[in-house]
Amino acid sequence: MKDQTVCVHHPEVSEAGFRSLTVPTHRASTIVYDDMTSFKARGSRGFDGYTYGLHGTPTTRRLEAQITQLHGGVRSILTPSGQAAITAIMLTFLMPGDRVLIPDNAYGPVRFFCSDYLEPRDIAYTVYDPTIGAGIEALITPEVKLIWLESPGSGTMEVQDIPAIVAVAKAHGILTGCDNTWATPLCFKPLAHGVDFAVEALTKYIGGHSDLLMGSITVSDIELRQKIKLVIRDLGIGVSPDEAALALRGIETMAVRIAHVGRVALEFANRLSAFPAVTRVLHPALPGTPGHEFWKRDFTGATGVFTVLLNPGTEAALEQALSAMKTFAIGASWGGTRSLMAPISPAGERSAVLWEHRGPVVRISIGLEAEGDLWADVEKVFSAALSASLKSPAYSD
Ligand SMILES: *Cc1c(COP(=O)(O)O)cnc(C)c1O
Repeated sequence: MKDQTVCVHHPEVSEAGFRSLTVPTHRASTIVYDDMTSFKARGSRGFDGYTYGLHGTPTTRRLEAQITQLHGGVRSILTPSGQAAITAIMLTFLMPGDRVLIPDNAYGPVRFFCSDYLEPRDIAYTVYDPTIGAGIEALITPEVKLIWLESPGSGTMEVQDIPAIVAVAKAHGILTGCDNTWATPLCFKPLAHGVDFAVEALTKYIGGHSDLLMGSITVSDIELRQKIKLVIRDLGIGVSPDEAALALRGIETMAVRIAHVGRVALEFANRLSAFPAVTRVLHPALPGTPGHEFWKRDFTGATGVFTVLLNPGTEAALEQALSAMKTFAIGASWGGTRSLMAPISPAGERSAVLWEHRGPVVRISIGLEAEGDLWADVEKVFSAALSASLKSPAYSD
């Protein structure tokens, strides 16, 4: 073999005795075959075999298998983002003339996908009150093929009565999919409640370090998986093994991270409920949050994201105080090690149920910093808001 060829052929080395606790990162575009017989039979390898790097590597399959196990499903599919997981389902199962039902508190880009992409292609959508429960029956028409769920809504925290909605869907042969990003499979398992698609934005708690974008779809029916895989294969969608490796690292600490942020978030939510500038705290584990009874019935825990409604008149003071925070960062994509706080605007995003609250709305994601440092920021922000609300004419009666 000439040197030039040696440069291209990596020599075999023994792997005997090499056992590591980590998952190797298998990078590949092309997959090669031992002989012509296996090359000619490659078409029969199916979606569980290896045919092209885009369709899966041992690294991505390990992550898929781990998510499948956590969800109690049969297969998972990785996508380049959480949003892509949601749209892959809609692109696969909705045809012109069909309709999808989405909750009013859905992750914003889901609504945009329905209005900007689906609707011009003759796929209709109806936005429903997330607390509708069995009342969803009234929205069922022969065109409805998919009911989308997000529980709790990651902005405004309404917990849905998923078993009631699933019962209606099943009676009509309608598929259901649930964005489970807030809960993760550690706090809620949608498939166990009859949901067809459990979606996670791995970008959040599974990645856990604000350094990757990925999504997953888990199903308990292999046929559903085949259909989605066909569509994402045809669209040319896959994920990089390097990012899957990051997610495989993140998932190892997820349970400990969530136990911690869940405890701190609930503690802060409770304390904030007593703050005079706070109109209301929305946290699924707090009585009074819409659907709290379903959280108690169906969930096994809570994560680190919750929302605080402030009195009207506190806007300017709040903005100033947020800019002055020492430990929290201002940002939206939660689930990492850093705590985040940022205003959200449910008022502009609702169409089924009007958002009545007039004051500012702040979403808090608890990270892994020392609790005392975090509380110092929280106390400053919400006390600053208090002095403002006392001076505000909206509060002066
Ligand atoms: C972040 C998020 C998504 C989207 O995930 P990306 O990976 O950012 O596309 C979907 N749903 C919820 C609830 C989210 O928080």
